[in-house]
Amino acid sequence: MTRALPIDPAEVAWHVERLAHFGAHGATGVWRTVYSPEWTAAQQQLAEWFQAAGLSVRQDAVGNLWGRLEGSAGCGVIATGSHVDSQRPGGQYDGALGIIAGLLAVKHLRQTYGSPRRPLEVVSLCEEESSRFPTAAYWGSRAITGQVRPADLTEVRDFDGVPIADVMRGVGLDPDRVAEAVRHDLDAFIELHIEQGPFLEDANLPVAIVSGITGMRHYLVTLTGRADHAGAVPMDRRLDPMAGAAEIISGVIGNAFRLGRPAVTTVGQIRAEPGGRAIVPDRVIFTVDARHPVPEQRAELYRQHESLIREVAARRGLRLTLEIMLDIDPAPSDPAIMALHEASARGLEIPCLVLPSGAGHDSQRMATICRTGMLFVQSRDGRSHTPDEYTAPEHAAAGIAVLAATLHGLAYDE
Ligand SMILES: [Zn+2]
Repeated sequence: MTRALPIDPAEVAWHVERLAHFGAHGATGVWRTVYSPEWTAAQQQLAEWFQAAGLSVRQDAVGNLWGRLEGSAGCGVIATGSHVDSQRPGGQYDGALGIIAGLLAVKHLRQTYGSPRRPLEVVSLCEEESSRFPTAAYWGSRAITGQVRPADLTEVRDFDGVPIADVMRGVGLDPDRVAEAVRHDLDAFIELHIEQGPFLEDANLPVAIVSGITGMRHYLVTLTGRADHAGAVPMDRRLDPMAGAAEIISGVIGNAFRLGRPAVTTVGQIRAEPGGRAIVPDRVIFTVDARHPVPEQRAELYRQHESLIREVAARRGLRLTLEIMLDIDPAPSDPAIMALHEASARGLEIPCLVLPSGAGHDSQRMATICRTGMLFVQSRDGRSHTPDEYTAPEHAAAGIAVLAATLHGLAYDE
């Protein structure tokens, strides 16, 4: 980077540090779940910053916070932002940096170029992480894109079993009005996010242009056999679902390895019933998370997993229930926005990688109603979802400079 950046790294660092006070957890962690007092306080702080930057502020029906810079054309909104909720605990950058990036980019554009032709909006989205409501699945962006069903308001529950509608009422939101959060006037959504993987650090580069977000599927596998005494029943007389689970788990992980990067598969949850140390389990229930950004190879990964699961269950005489809990299509980035990212980075003399995103993001939901693009900035050691995550202010500022130039192209030039 030879050119002076239009974004000051110290200003980025200051905002990250300030926002991390809300839900601070230990020295560098953040524990900020949706609709909690610390979430409310963080949104209040952001509202003040939006206002100070000359944006008009409103909260929508699910609690997303929007700051708007009016444009002379009045329509075809260009939006940017990310999520304000965190893991339990997470770090200071995941989500938060994307909102700060939008704020600083739009503030810079307003100060330098005045009013845009198209309206520019910065958004702080709620419950991306599903860290309070495990089945919320991008709650804020689902509401914006009209993907919240009325039944979700009572069926989506927190870890204590409280429906999301009740928790919303507790922070002054009216769940019956959730449909009012739907937007029909967005033309583009651009999200800056930390990479959460090692590729930028390996390449020693600050910024990546995201080519698209991976498609993913979550399976819930239930294998039922027969509970028996762990000492008295010989191996050849058992119907042991754990033996089947072990073979399947090792097999699906092997499938992803053999398909090669960027195929991934993870078994992150497993439960045995009845769960006694000296009992052959009756049932074993586990999840399989499988992802690939390329449609044909993703279909192949899913096909291999499903046939393996069925084959193992049948051969071992186990009863199988195979449910698909979550099935999200990949969201390729808009080619014109990617080209604009590339031109912006070139103009700023910021070298970039082009990467697919293996992680899901709000942009995936937003892609159902408007064109989308994403930028990644380097994550130290590729770490995220931990208080240890870190992005250098210089890397963040480089990403925000590319974001600002792209927003300029979309809102002032087009
Ligand atoms: Zn995130």
